[in-house]
Amino acid sequence: MNILILGGGGREHALAWAIRQNPKCDRLIVAPGNAGISGVADCAKLDINSRADVLEFAQDNAIDFVVIGPEAPLAAGVSDALRGAGFLVFGPSQAAAQLEASKTFTKEVCDACGAPTAAWERFTEAAAARAHVIALGAPIVIKADGLAAGKGVTVAETVAQACDAIDLIFDGEFGDTSIVIEEYMTGEEASFFVLCDGKDCLPIGTAQDHKRVGEGDTGPNTGGMGAYSPAPVLSETLQAQVMEQIIRPTVTEMARRNSPFQGILYAGLMIDGGHARLVEYNVRFGDPECQALMIRLGAQALDLLLACATGRLAETSVNWADDHALTVVMAAKGYPGSYEKGSAINGLSQVTESSFEMVFHAGTTEADGRVTASGGRVLACTGRGATLAEAHARAYRLVDAIDWPEGFYRRDIGWRALSNAE
Ligand code: AMP
Repeated sequence: MNILILGGGGREHALAWAIRQNPKCDRLIVAPGNAGISGVADCAKLDINSRADVLEFAQDNAIDFVVIGPEAPLAAGVSDALRGAGFLVFGPSQAAAQLEASKTFTKEVCDACGAPTAAWERFTEAAAARAHVIALGAPIVIKADGLAAGKGVTVAETVAQACDAIDLIFDGEFGDTSIVIEEYMTGEEASFFVLCDGKDCLPIGTAQDHKRVGEGDTGPNTGGMGAYSPAPVLSETLQAQVMEQIIRPTVTEMARRNSPFQGILYAGLMIDGGHARLVEYNVRFGDPECQALMIRLGAQALDLLLACATGRLAETSVNWADDHALTVVMAAKGYPGSYEKGSAINGLSQVTESSFEMVFHAGTTEADGRVTASGGRVLACTGRGATLAEAHARAYRLVDAIDWPEGFYRRDIGWRALSNAE
């Protein structure tokens, strides 16, 4: 098979690494890719958000299967263009991608199918939104309705903070004209990843990530500083409950709306008192959770994605090793604020990579044999082992082998699960 992966982050490196190992994969192209991806695939320049450009590229390169990594091409309808032309695609249609692109849409789907989630209301006008916040009090959660690169959510601890967030959204910060105001939920967060082929669903793992930049989960939010899989809080019982109360009803409701969901449904959950409620859906793999999932799944990832794209999930199962994975993100100093690009990363060639230890590249470029940083989150050092402690030791061994003075990372990835496991 000739396979095209769209994207160029750590998530896509992990996908490419796993897919490359499957004998079904002949040629693998990743667009745009990065320095790490170029070790396992051909990298190609392409505007991945352009339906026409991606379609032309797939036709010119005799592609058999397209895997869409990030949300932007999904929201732009790239999968519809490809499917319309007869290509096999992993990733939801533009209509089904609304589950991530619109908070209101997701809330309406939850209400229609009875999936437990925070109480909510939508507002299109700042004065009414402020009055609602004043009536309900804080803490309260304010969300821009559309895609805001993870920056459209404010968990407000005071009414004043909530009102500031409302004003910021309506003043055009995210180009939004509507907001969702939600009840604040307490509990422990975890991510649940389920493949859906429009009618059937197959869970492929759980994870927890660390969003805050600083150790002890402090400081501003980031795209994710580390993650581990599985998430101990999502017990088998709880997973069964989430499948029955949240995932299957959502998939049925999407099919009823003539927008069957095909791809990965990534449910962000809040767990409290042995019950889970939906915080949000994403319609693509999380980054860096994907790195922890892919090192656990290995070559079978391609079979799973193909079963999803061809509607064969009912007859597919996951071959689980009883293992754990942990990934530590190395980021450029200053991230998530402003940071320098172009600093040299040394030590990568001395690292021995295997199915237990992988350095996945997120924002790197290679020129004249030198790898330099070209993004905020730059590397994801990923370890796998029989226990979380073993995975943790392997991931940090990779981190310690890398010589990048302009980078930083958190030393405490996995702290909660590790201290509970002791
Ligand atoms: P979202 O983009 O909807 O996932 O929100 C980003 C983060 O905000 C989540 O991962 C939660 O930590 C937090 N959050 C969102 N909604 C709520 C809520 N209703 N209650 C508490 N925290 C929330």
